[in-house]
Amino acid sequence: MFVVSGPSGAGKGTIVDALVAADPTLWLSRSWTTRARRVGEPPHAYRFVDRPRFEAHLQSGGFLEWAEVFDHLYGTPIPAPPEGADVVLEIDVQGAQQVRAINLAAILIFVEPPSRDDQEVRLRGRGDDESVIMRRLAKAATEEAIGERIADHVVVNDDLERAVTEVAGIVEAHRKDRNRSVS
Ligand code: 5GP
Repeated sequence: MFVVSGPSGAGKGTIVDALVAADPTLWLSRSWTTRARRVGEPPHAYRFVDRPRFEAHLQSGGFLEWAEVFDHLYGTPIPAPPEGADVVLEIDVQGAQQVRAINLAAILIFVEPPSRDDQEVRLRGRGDDESVIMRRLAKAATEEAIGERIADHVVVNDDLERAVTEVAGIVEAHRKDRNRSVS
């Protein structure tokens, strides 16, 4: 299992999308959220549900991890990947901490923006409210401190293509290690 985490606006979603598009043996989990769909956001970006629906799924043990992020609930359903595929999660740092606690073999990749200005530009491009953008920026330093402490790899998203290549290289290196240890 590969967990890609990082502050909001680091570009982790774009990196993960490029990664799984290029490698059919990586299976991207689709999270549930109580957040409303953004204008222009694809309907399959999340499973969009209301709070009672999310809470019922939580009570029935349906989530591997979950967290409240900026007033909304987000959760990873128990993964059901196709045979032979490795699971990829794109989640916040609270979720990454939970996964690390329950799955010691999970590989944690923490993506950071090259600068706070760069992160702000990315956040503004999504059309969120100003207050939402400010809260996301304010939380980034704390998230980075935690992420850098728990991550196996820290990747700076200074250039999308370069960052995707770096993450793909990390995935490949861990797969080689695993194959060596089973053979
Ligand atoms: P956004 O609202 O921008 O789509 O996501 C807000 C934050 O929630 C991002 O950092 C995103 O990675 C994180 N997130 C998305 N899905 C999950 C999930 O299933 N679990 C957790 N813990 N965080 C998630």
